[in-house]
Amino acid sequence: KNTVNILGINFINTTVKQFVHTLGSHIENREKTFVVTANPEIVMDARKNDTLMNIIQGADYVTADGIGIVKSAGLLGVPLPERVPGFDVTMRLLKLANKKSLSVYLLGGKDRVVEKAADRIKSDFPNVKIAGYHHGYFDLNDDQIMKTVESTKPDIILVALGAPRQEQWISQSMPSFDHGIFIGVGGTFDVIAG
Ligand code: UDP
Repeated sequence: KNTVNILGINFINTTVKQFVHTLGSHIENREKTFVVTANPEIVMDARKNDTLMNIIQGADYVTADGIGIVKSAGLLGVPLPERVPGFDVTMRLLKLANKKSLSVYLLGGKDRVVEKAADRIKSDFPNVKIAGYHHGYFDLNDDQIMKTVESTKPDIILVALGAPRQEQWISQSMPSFDHGIFIGVGGTFDVIAG
């Protein structure tokens, strides 16, 4: 993996397009892949929180979500080509999922928001299989949600619980899954729902 280290975190040196292509091969190989889309806030939080830092360092990929990260990389003399935000990765992943008839689970956001986002995805990407969806206001200690999501065997799990809650959920839930792309996507469902 070609990465750039900023404040102790290895960012993947890639464009959105290349990155989703990479994720596509992980899906084809039925692997488990944890993606953190990291903005400067989460990087600063992680520097004060060892548990969070360990979770981020344990991810398969950390992408540069925010111009601040891209600018820092440039100043450090290790330039990154562009921002790789959760929203952009999600939209390209949905395009790929539509082409390959993959299944997607939507976890997070308010009840009405995630429902609306699922409806939008169904109409804009008709070949995407919505494995299921659930709002994001549940107790992280309750593993019922994890079991429900796992039972649908999704190819892609979009986790929109806000940072670092979404990274925490992925980190604790992933061991129970057999395969899938797990990605924390922040406020993406709010944008899709409009
Ligand atoms: N969210 C959630 N559960 C929570 C907190 C937040 O599902 O306990 C959702 C919220 O509805 C929103 C998304 O997480 O859709 C992103 O929230 P926010 O913008 O606060 O996080 P960030 O973009 O900073 O990751």
